[in-house]
Amino acid sequence: MSQTSPTETRIADWLAGQRDAMIDLLREVVDLDSGSYDKAGVDAVGARFERFFAEHGLPTSREPHEQLGDAIHIRLDEQPTNERPILLMGHRDTVFPKGEVARRPFKIENGRAYGPGVSDMKSGLVMNAFVLAAFKRFGGNPAPLAGLITSDEEIASPSSRPVIERTARKARCVFNSEPGRPTGNVVTGRKGGVFMRFEITGKAAHSGGNFEKGISAIGELAHKIVALHALTDLELGITVNVGLVKGGQSVNTTAPSAEGQIDLRYVHPADRAEALDKVRAIIERATVPGTSATLEIKGEFLPVTTGGASQELFEIYQGAGTSVGLKIGGEFSGGCADSGFTSAVGCPTICAVGPVGGNAHTAEEYLEVDSMVPRAQALAIAILRMPPET
Ligand SMILES: [Zn+2]
Repeated sequence: MSQTSPTETRIADWLAGQRDAMIDLLREVVDLDSGSYDKAGVDAVGARFERFFAEHGLPTSREPHEQLGDAIHIRLDEQPTNERPILLMGHRDTVFPKGEVARRPFKIENGRAYGPGVSDMKSGLVMNAFVLAAFKRFGGNPAPLAGLITSDEEIASPSSRPVIERTARKARCVFNSEPGRPTGNVVTGRKGGVFMRFEITGKAAHSGGNFEKGISAIGELAHKIVALHALTDLELGITVNVGLVKGGQSVNTTAPSAEGQIDLRYVHPADRAEALDKVRAIIERATVPGTSATLEIKGEFLPVTTGGASQELFEIYQGAGTSVGLKIGGEFSGGCADSGFTSAVGCPTICAVGPVGGNAHTAEEYLEVDSMVPRAQALAIAILRMPPET
């Protein structure tokens, strides 16, 4: 390590000594199914982390939720202060169904770890947990430190969003430990996304004997898909994808109903309203006479914006990375995450500071095991180098 202070060295050395303990904890939490809708599974992962924090003397509290997993807050000390904390954040749900762990439990092969949620983002949570434990042990943090483990990011955080927004409003900055890019880069900007579902109503008629009485909802669906896709403007970073469709009753019936699901993405916060208006206009306009349609928003992520205090935060983090031999750049991602909510409430945010991995949401998802310690060290050193609040 180059140019590190004694406290930085002490914490970095301790983290290096925790490599096996990190892998053990990661194995345990990966081997618990925790799909977003599996409350019992998501809460079991939460309980395992709570046990870790209890063992390391960090107080935790739960915000319960009836259907989805509970939110878990972690602090360094019992005593609350008025100073704004640095917040380490992550989600513990995965996109995988119950039974996935039995099919492909945690394993390590050729330096890569595999298993459901191994990098997205259970390794990020393990990293956060050890960094918090390190500060509990050695101190030196220039501001209070807090952790937040959420439960439903993969379904756009319906239960966690208000918790995240409230916590981020009171925080000084956020490090979100989504997996680092395969290059090792972090994410300093993200697209916003709106997930919508629309339903078209037509009229059923026998398509042989009574064709002229029918109104085809599928015919209308086709027009709407083409019009929606035409809203895509790659230069502005706006994309519209109808990713799911269904409809119809039988091959010889004019389709009485049809539906589609839309994923709208955008870069600039100002583009959201206009793009949504255009989507609404297309859903309202009937090209096939006699059809009608409705639209509902199913979920949403806000964009992570760059510049200003986020840029300063990134530079501190980048410098910390250099001290432990990591070359970390910032990149823009079309993917959405909870970091959009923290950024949107004005809290400087860096995303993807977690250990490095790839192929998220697939059976090939992997984690570079050797990235766990240096990413934890970079995060800890970045925290130590935050200037005192003015
Ligand atoms: Zn994730």
